[in-house]
Amino acid sequence: MSRLDFIRPAVRAMAGYVPGEQPQGGRIIKLNTNENPYPPSPRVREAIAACASDEVRLYPDPLATALRTAAAERYDLPFDHVIAGNGSDELLAIVMRACLDPGDRVVYPVPTYSLYDTLGEIAGATVVRLPWPEDYALPEGIAAAAGRVTIVCNPNAPSGTCVPIEALAELPEQVRGLLVIDEAYVDFAADHALRLIHRHDNVLVLRTLSKSYSLAGMRIGLGFGQPALLAELGKVKDSYNLSRVSIAAGAAALGDVALMHAHVARVAATRARLTTRLQALGYAVPPSQANFVLARRSGVDQRPVYERLKAQGILVRYFATPGLADALRISVGTDAEIDALLAALPEGGTPSP
Ligand code: PMP
Repeated sequence: MSRLDFIRPAVRAMAGYVPGEQPQGGRIIKLNTNENPYPPSPRVREAIAACASDEVRLYPDPLATALRTAAAERYDLPFDHVIAGNGSDELLAIVMRACLDPGDRVVYPVPTYSLYDTLGEIAGATVVRLPWPEDYALPEGIAAAAGRVTIVCNPNAPSGTCVPIEALAELPEQVRGLLVIDEAYVDFAADHALRLIHRHDNVLVLRTLSKSYSLAGMRIGLGFGQPALLAELGKVKDSYNLSRVSIAAGAAALGDVALMHAHVARVAATRARLTTRLQALGYAVPPSQANFVLARRSGVDQRPVYERLKAQGILVRYFATPGLADALRISVGTDAEIDALLAALPEGGTPSP
C-alpha cells in the first residue's frame, strides 16, 4: 500500500488542474491565459504603493469592506449582495465546498473552464458534462440533469460564445439547486445576467478583475447574489481571503470604469480583426464575446502549430483533450502582438515541414 494512502482516494485519482504556462522573464508574446494586454488604471498603482507600510503586520479586513463597497457602488447593489474572493477561482471552490457532498451532482455544458472538473473531483461529486450543441445554445436537459449545482460559463471559455440572457433567465426556476453564472469575461460581451439575482435566491453571478480590469496578478473575484446565499458561502471561505493589497487595488480599479471600457473597446476591435484573419487562414472561429477566440481546424491536431508558435516565442493555449486538440485558444493581445501571431501562423492550420 502506498505511504500516501492518507490522501483521499478522490484526490489520488485526479490529475489536478493544469494552468496555462506562466514563463518567468524572456521576450514572450503571451496569448495563452486571457490576460489583458493593457495596463490597469494608474489609480491601482497608487493604491498598491499606499499599502507599502508597517500596517502589513496587521491582518486584512476579513470582509473586504472597501472592495465590496466599491463593487456595490459600481453595480448599483446593496453591499450585502457582494462577496469577494481571492480570484473567482476561490469563489468557485467556495461554492463546491458549501454545496456538494460526495456523490452530489454538478452539471455544466462542455467544453468549458476545466477548473470545474477539478473542483468537482475534489468534492467527490458526480460530474454531469453536457456537450454544447454546435450553435452553443444551452444544452437541452441541463435542468433535467438535476444538479445540486449547475454552472453556465457566459461567455463560455474556451469557445467565447454567449447564451442569450433570456435563455438563462428561465433556468433558475427549472434547476433543482444553485445556478452559478460565471461571467469572468462578461465585460467583453454585449449583455450580462446580474439582474437575475434580484428575482431568484438560487443564482450566483461570478465576476473577476483579472480580465477586463487587467488585474490577474492581484487575484480579485466578486460574487453577486442574495444576502442569505452569500452568508452561507461566507462561512466556508478562508477568513482573510484577500490581502490588504488586493482589497485596495480592487477598490481603486472599480473606481476607474472609463479606462476599463476603453481597453475593452480596443480588445473588441482587435478581436474582430483577428477573427477575420483566422477565418481567411482556414480556421473556423465561433463568434467570441470574450477576450480570446477559439480557432479550429476540424480534425487536424494543432499541437505542431502550438509548438511552432512557442518556438518563435508566441504562447497560445493548446488543450490535449478530446474535442479540443484540433483547436487553439488565442487571447486577444495588442495589435502588434496579433500581427506577430498572424505572421507566424501557417496557412490551412498545418505547419509546413
Ligand atoms: N472563470 C473562467 C471562465 C476563467 O477563465 C477564469 C480564469 N482562468 C476564472 C473563472 C478565474 O479567474 P480568476 O481566478 O483570475 O478571477
